[in-house]
Amino acid sequence: MSKEITRREFMSQSCSVVGGSMLGVMISNRESPVSRAYKSPHDYIIVEGHRDIWEFNDRFDTRRKSQNSPLKDFLLPRLLEGGVDVVIIPAGGESVPERSGHERLFEGSMRVVDMLLTEIEKTNGKASIIKNKADIPAQPDKNRVKFFLDLEGGASIQIDPEPDYHPDRRLALLRNFYRLGIRGMQLTHHGRNQLADGWWEGKFSGKLSKFGVEVVQEMNRIGMMIGVSHLSATGIFHLAEITTKPIVSTHTNLTAFINTERQHNDEEVKAIASTGGLVGIRYISEKTTPYELLVKEIDYMVNLVGIEHVAVGWLGHDKGNPYIGQLPGVTKNPRKPTGVEAQSMYEHWNNFIGVLYKHGYTDEQISLILGGNFIRIWNEILAE
Ligand SMILES: [Zn+2]
Repeated sequence: MSKEITRREFMSQSCSVVGGSMLGVMISNRESPVSRAYKSPHDYIIVEGHRDIWEFNDRFDTRRKSQNSPLKDFLLPRLLEGGVDVVIIPAGGESVPERSGHERLFEGSMRVVDMLLTEIEKTNGKASIIKNKADIPAQPDKNRVKFFLDLEGGASIQIDPEPDYHPDRRLALLRNFYRLGIRGMQLTHHGRNQLADGWWEGKFSGKLSKFGVEVVQEMNRIGMMIGVSHLSATGIFHLAEITTKPIVSTHTNLTAFINTERQHNDEEVKAIASTGGLVGIRYISEKTTPYELLVKEIDYMVNLVGIEHVAVGWLGHDKGNPYIGQLPGVTKNPRKPTGVEAQSMYEHWNNFIGVLYKHGYTDEQISLILGGNFIRIWNEILAE
């Protein structure tokens, strides 16, 4: 009940860009065929909500010298060609790949942070990380890519949860990750940690722990983005009540289209939107999530909560690295990439923009979906 009011309050304060005319625009554009050529990916600030790090891991796993700089030699050129401006990337976390295969969560995450920072250093300034408001891109930049480092799960910052532990020290690891440049943290991955329950524990499992609440307060205070992609619905509702800043689901689809517990239902989307946050929809496969379906998810969310709360998590593998375990020209190709996997990153974004146009979105609205909403939220969250 109070969530709805909060959301309306938020909308009334912030919807100057689109206002209430969205549906009218969509209908009128649908009736007339789209004749004009649409803008290219390079004309927008594009933010990828979540790019897993397996391309780095896979290339290092080949133990070939030619693959030793996966960012500089392989990923960066594709991102630049594709018009991607910012990549939100897991810099450690709870899944095995995100912690570089390490069994110990803290050490594994530290190794991944080092790997990413080392890779970024090799690019001579073409890649950098977003730390503060001044680092947020104000316009598209075809020569540079920025990374937003995001811990995928809070287990790496867990400290002895006993209440007699010195309260000022309980958040020490969180602050140290911040000092290394981490600006986002998803509270959980699939499972349970000392902060909260992931969706594997049941969509309606526990609320945030006392430690989880302290972490949220500290993230609000120091300027970090709180992520909920793998958090239980109960956790999302609790978090939406206590956070003072927008929360985000960088890479999740909707149960209305893909009916699994990993996706968000309407109530979760509304709770996230009530904080001023967003949901980034994510390509899964050609069969499950063709671009037509992803854009239908966007239409659905626009109707449910408004366009300010919609983003893109990820558009799929590309011909530079068509799927996990396959590096073109390096590892044997067990199947021929088709569809999105066979396209370049530029084609991904260009085709996706085309589908958005077909659904009646204007340039201004597309710019919000492709990156503008993340940019607005970072301007609210990050320190000066
Ligand atoms: Zn994830």
